[in-house]
Amino acid sequence: MTLKPTRRARRRLRRAGLWLGGLCLFLLGSAALVGGCLSAPGHEGAMTPHFDGKRFANHVPVPEKGLSDMLRWWWLRKPGAWPERQEALPPRPRPEREVREPGRVRVTFVNHATVLLQLDGVNLLTDPVYSDRVGPFAWAGSKRHLPPGIAFAALPRIDLVLVSHNHYDHLDLPTLRRLAERDRPRVLVPLGNRALLEKHGIRGGEELDWWQSTRHGPLKLTLAPSRHWSGRGLSDRFQTLWGAHVIEGSGGPIYFAGDTGWGPHFEEARRRFGAFRLALLPIGAYQPRWFMRESHISPDEAVDAHLALEAATSVAIHFGTFRLSDEAQDDPPRELRAALRARKVVGERFWVLGQGEARDLPRAAARPSAVTCAPARPVCAL
Ligand code: ZN
Ligand code: ZN
Repeated sequence: MTLKPTRRARRRLRRAGLWLGGLCLFLLGSAALVGGCLSAPGHEGAMTPHFDGKRFANHVPVPEKGLSDMLRWWWLRKPGAWPERQEALPPRPRPEREVREPGRVRVTFVNHATVLLQLDGVNLLTDPVYSDRVGPFAWAGSKRHLPPGIAFAALPRIDLVLVSHNHYDHLDLPTLRRLAERDRPRVLVPLGNRALLEKHGIRGGEELDWWQSTRHGPLKLTLAPSRHWSGRGLSDRFQTLWGAHVIEGSGGPIYFAGDTGWGPHFEEARRRFGAFRLALLPIGAYQPRWFMRESHISPDEAVDAHLALEAATSVAIHFGTFRLSDEAQDDPPRELRAALRARKVVGERFWVLGQGEARDLPRAAARPSAVTCAPARPVCAL
């Protein structure tokens, strides 16, 4: 015997289906509307080899991840442990007001990608982030698991800010606003990002294209290519530029990688600027590899980058502060140490600084004697 739904039951089912369909459409429409509103203004300018008039492109493409990739990640993910926010950090001395001695470079790791660099009388801050969450709203986005290693009020006068790209954990509007109000620094951003700053009342933004340079007193600053992408909403992917910053002063060239996947840009920077005195290299946000590989290097690849740049000293950044991916909070430094051992790179040349820890770069650091690299994905050996 088959059970046939009555006419009334069929009507109810149809009505429920309509309601469900309407609800889905409403939710998708709202998400698209909110995502569209959050999107940053895109770059408007002439076409170049890496800008087609609307979107920027990497030298080695980064495939765009879609909804199916996101769902696959969320379905399969096995996230590592991140304990609750740790409040108490070891007390650190207040940073020096400035560093004037020629050749001297002082590095203070605030945390995540925020580093205070002091050299030639200039105080620079990379990707300054002091917010408790990195996301579109004060209540949405990844929350901070470690307080900034140096309190905002303890920061010395900031002359220059270097921003690598517009992701929320790198371009933090509230922090940029506080800095603009307190110190009025110049803010060097990749092409297309000044409009977002101005929309939020932040002055001092100056745009650079890849390989474009500007001067600040004795320093020369250049934006170099990285392999990444940009976007703050659903409809602005790749519409503003991303990059690494190179600082040339009396102490030799310094490389700030921002966020990046592996690519030939490390060797290209080494060819153009010579061996680096210092490289700030990301070691976090790399798991799962199938999702993150193209836009975030692993600790292992950070060692490749250190060698490709011939960095006298590297400092690990972009780990342990915001949970952006699946590795555990303390995986990146542990995997970095293992990769350094495997590659026979002494740990004194690749520092993992504590929150707020400051060090002077060694004055006469030894350079690697010879670096050999296979052409495809250089696995370099000393
Ligand atoms: Zn990013
Ligand atoms: Zn990032």
